[in-house]
Amino acid sequence: MSLTLDQVGPGTVTLVGVPWDVNSSQLAGPAAAPPVIRSVLFDPHANLSFEDGGNLWKHPRFADAGDMNLPQDRDAGFTAIVEATGTVLARGGLVLALGGDHAVSYPLVKAHAEHRDEPFGIVQIDAHPDLYEDFDDNPYSHASGFARIMEGGLCSKLVQVGIRASTPHQREQAARYGVETVDLSDDVSPARMPDGPVYLSLDLDGLDPAFVPGVSHPEPGGLSTRDVIRLIQQMPGRLIGADVVELNPRRDPHGTTAGVAAKLVKEIAARLLRDNASDNG
Ligand code: MN
Ligand code: MN
Repeated sequence: MSLTLDQVGPGTVTLVGVPWDVNSSQLAGPAAAPPVIRSVLFDPHANLSFEDGGNLWKHPRFADAGDMNLPQDRDAGFTAIVEATGTVLARGGLVLALGGDHAVSYPLVKAHAEHRDEPFGIVQIDAHPDLYEDFDDNPYSHASGFARIMEGGLCSKLVQVGIRASTPHQREQAARYGVETVDLSDDVSPARMPDGPVYLSLDLDGLDPAFVPGVSHPEPGGLSTRDVIRLIQQMPGRLIGADVVELNPRRDPHGTTAGVAAKLVKEIAARLLRDNASDNG
């Protein structure tokens, strides 16, 4: 696992790379994303300030723990993600995970469910519900992660935003598991997001491919970068953890998508810092 945890204490927003895409259904590539996002985030020509006026640079409650060292085997990799995430949570750290494909969210959420005393909701930003009972004979597919999360009762409520590529089977699954879908026919209002503790799972393909061309499954008609920033900044509830997944550097030759991912990571970090300030020390 080899994460660097010496900077991680209570309330520390902790970047953790999850370089894993063995459960991608079509294209590999997202496993290469964590160092790409970091290189934009920590580019000396950019800066680490976020929009509320704060800055991540040398922030006492911000740490980069590096990347998990993950086996390619599905079961062993899954277990390794749960365990590595648990090492951050056990120190009181707040996980901001850099995927990887969307299959990493199930073990990330499982670790949060194991380590937190209180139930939490999930906001999933995505073009796809990822609710397949089983996709291509793989129940751990990146298209099935949220079926596993709901089946395991790992969250109190799941709200999906940006869905525009569902299927009859997945609509049945959404009804079966009581998943709330916020469609894009209206403006997406932060007020429709859950109260209380909330985990944010951000599949970059929830955004329009005009903003994020470098994903494995682009689907036009999506959210803008600003729509997502507004959700991050304004949704009610208290953010307890997050992942940013599905950047595929092989499809991102100009780094456009990596730039958006790094921007969103900064705003998520800002929200985590703001919502968990009282955990400090
Ligand atoms: Mn997804
Ligand atoms: Mn998706």
